[in-house]
Amino acid sequence: MKAIETLYWSLDPVRPDPQVLARAGKILRRGGLVAFPTETVYGLGASALDPRAVARIFEVKGRPQDNPLIVHVAGPGEVAGLVEGEVPPQASLLIKLFWPGPLTLVLPAAPHLPPQVTAGLPTVALRMPAHPVALGLIAAAGVPVAAPSANLSGRPSPTTAQHVLEDLGGRIEAVLDAGPAAIGLESTVLDLTGPVPLILRPGGITPEELAEVLGEVRLAPGAGGEPCALPRPRSPGMKYRHYAPRAPLLLVEGDPQRVAGRIAELARGYLARGKAVGILAYEETAPLYRLPEGRVSLVVAGSRDNPRAVAAALFGALRRLDALGVDVILAEGMEPRGVGLAVMNRLRRAAGENVEKV
Ligand code: AMP
Ligand code: MG
Repeated sequence: MKAIETLYWSLDPVRPDPQVLARAGKILRRGGLVAFPTETVYGLGASALDPRAVARIFEVKGRPQDNPLIVHVAGPGEVAGLVEGEVPPQASLLIKLFWPGPLTLVLPAAPHLPPQVTAGLPTVALRMPAHPVALGLIAAAGVPVAAPSANLSGRPSPTTAQHVLEDLGGRIEAVLDAGPAAIGLESTVLDLTGPVPLILRPGGITPEELAEVLGEVRLAPGAGGEPCALPRPRSPGMKYRHYAPRAPLLLVEGDPQRVAGRIAELARGYLARGKAVGILAYEETAPLYRLPEGRVSLVVAGSRDNPRAVAAALFGALRRLDALGVDVILAEGMEPRGVGLAVMNRLRRAAGENVEKV
């Protein structure tokens, strides 16, 4: 891939400069790629109506072709033109309650959408982000914006513009920087095309919140991140190892005290073999580790009592452990409830097969 100059703009997150948004919007309209902040993670945007621009997203990320993209809109009024048939009443209700916000709805796709966006599926994923920069950019572009997370495929999603530049600097036209992402994990993906609403990916809107509105909602097999050997995952993104740091990550789940005990034991084993060890822990358990200074890096990702804070810190913590050059990451699991389910989904995906229950 030929290196290109990546323009960098720092913007006020609340009142972004309209002139910068206009310039970035023009880049999108002309087929360029612009990374931008959302409340979930940083996205890598292209015009959803431009097949060549969308194809470049897959190229620069190294993203598998069968993993579809989320189309971002600046308002609920844009939905009707992107779906086939009427907008279902359930979708309208969810849009009224949760948009703008971290909820992506999968609906039947309008036939004019390029197959690159939907990965050839008959459905499209739609979201209205709750970030003034994202909304201003989409409006300035004047087109719906297809955007996955702005990271190299498989790596932890970017929660800062620096993360984006680490992965994609020199490969994309521009980056808009508005500081760290507030939520820190990708949106909840909800499939409304079947008989029962199905959560394909847990995120900032919890199953509990959705059940309150919809009555019945199910978690797709594997959506908690647990390994599953489905012949045909509902959402192609579900089948890949994902969100992963460079170092292998071993996830230990169970009672917090026992988890910390097991991780300390594993850490001693790795240290004895001369390995540099990273530990991802929470505030409650961090003081339990009494390991030799220097060769163990302990990163604390917030409190178990506050899964939203853990979500916001998680991807940055994984990238920090990579930057410290550890050979292995030992990560504590947390209770998979509320936003904790989304955290555990990402940790289990990052761990791949390396999950231990104690
Ligand atoms: P990313 O853009 O990397 O945050 O991933 C987008 C997520 O949305 C992936 O898990 C996709 O598989 C999922 N997704 C996007 N479009 C669809 C669709 N039409 N049907 C099912 N899942 C989708
Ligand atoms: Mg992603």
